[in-house]
Amino acid sequence: MRIAAVETEQCRPEKCDNLCIRVCPVERTKPETIVIDKTTGKAKIDENLCIGCGICVNKCPFSAISVLNLPDEWSTTVVHKYPTSGFVLFWLPTPKKGSVLGIIGKNGAGKTTALKILSGELIPNLGSDNNATKSVVDFFRGKELQRYFSGLYSGNLRVAVKPQYLDQLRTQQTVKEYLDGKLGSPLIDEFSLSSVLSSRLDELSGGELQKVVIVKTIESEADAYFFDEPASFLDVKDRLIMGKAVRRLASLGKYVLVVEHDLVVLDYLADYITIVYGEPGAYGYVSNYYGVRNGINYMLLGYLPDINMRLRADQIVFYKHAAKAFIQSEEAFSWGAMSVSYDNGFKLTIQPGVAYNGKVVCILGENGVGKT
Ligand code: SF4
Ligand code: SF4
Repeated sequence: MRIAAVETEQCRPEKCDNLCIRVCPVERTKPETIVIDKTTGKAKIDENLCIGCGICVNKCPFSAISVLNLPDEWSTTVVHKYPTSGFVLFWLPTPKKGSVLGIIGKNGAGKTTALKILSGELIPNLGSDNNATKSVVDFFRGKELQRYFSGLYSGNLRVAVKPQYLDQLRTQQTVKEYLDGKLGSPLIDEFSLSSVLSSRLDELSGGELQKVVIVKTIESEADAYFFDEPASFLDVKDRLIMGKAVRRLASLGKYVLVVEHDLVVLDYLADYITIVYGEPGAYGYVSNYYGVRNGINYMLLGYLPDINMRLRADQIVFYKHAAKAFIQSEEAFSWGAMSVSYDNGFKLTIQPGVAYNGKVVCILGENGVGKT
């Protein structure tokens, strides 16, 4: 099967004078092969007319087009196709009751789309113009997802979602108002949030806002809990608290799904791992689920042996010691003992130290103790 996708955010027909339409050889005889969509104002390619020559892919000045030939058997696993961009998501992660399913993969390969579908925010169209909920349940007949979607669409399965982007939550509402009804949560103390309860959401740091939204999600009455990148902005201590709280949900028999890039966090909190691979902006394919160790190792290896699929040309290898080529010993600069005091009483004491050329220094510590 062939997919022809246009990344709508990249496509700027007004800047290129519709270059893809002008260079497409099929356009001369079949002028509907590439059109500028009247609703979006962006290019749209008809995959049935496109012959896959790749000329438009190479000519587009904004690298907005992907034309790819994928295995024909994948056509039966199309879960959603965005009508405007042409992005296709193949298959879905399967949440498991009482377990934490971790999802890893490239950005732009469909992880967030998968979460939207599983949370009911997006009804998948199964690659056609049809997006009836009954077709979705039928599509997954005999699979665990059939039961899941039956519950979701009948209102018997409630979902709580911690979204990836939190900026839209930065309002003038106070934390206390936002967490109304959830102020008895032990997580407020564990996350040291008591001191910001009277603050407005738009005054919080990234880490504080992340923790507040995690508390709200975890304390919601739901059967399935989804966390999109919950470790972002959190320091090591808060990541552990978050991980334990997320695992508690699974121990209560809930469906728990976590999208995360940090392999250490996933190793800590997930029971299973699904890998989403593909071409950002063009397609995403959801793998089978694996045990955590195997899933992480396959991700590092860049290869899924069960379906003989290579994700990357190279493995990711961790060395016990830095590669010798990087180790140089010339001193770049040094500093003596010093301290910094702020009017609010905060005082930072700094020990003498040395920085070397060619070496990476890692500064590790809780948020709010003076790293910045
Ligand atoms: S896809 Fe590329 S070449 Fe085609 S209209 Fe958009 S920006 Fe221009
Ligand atoms: S890949 Fe070739 S045939 Fe297909 S839309 Fe682009 S230029 Fe036209």
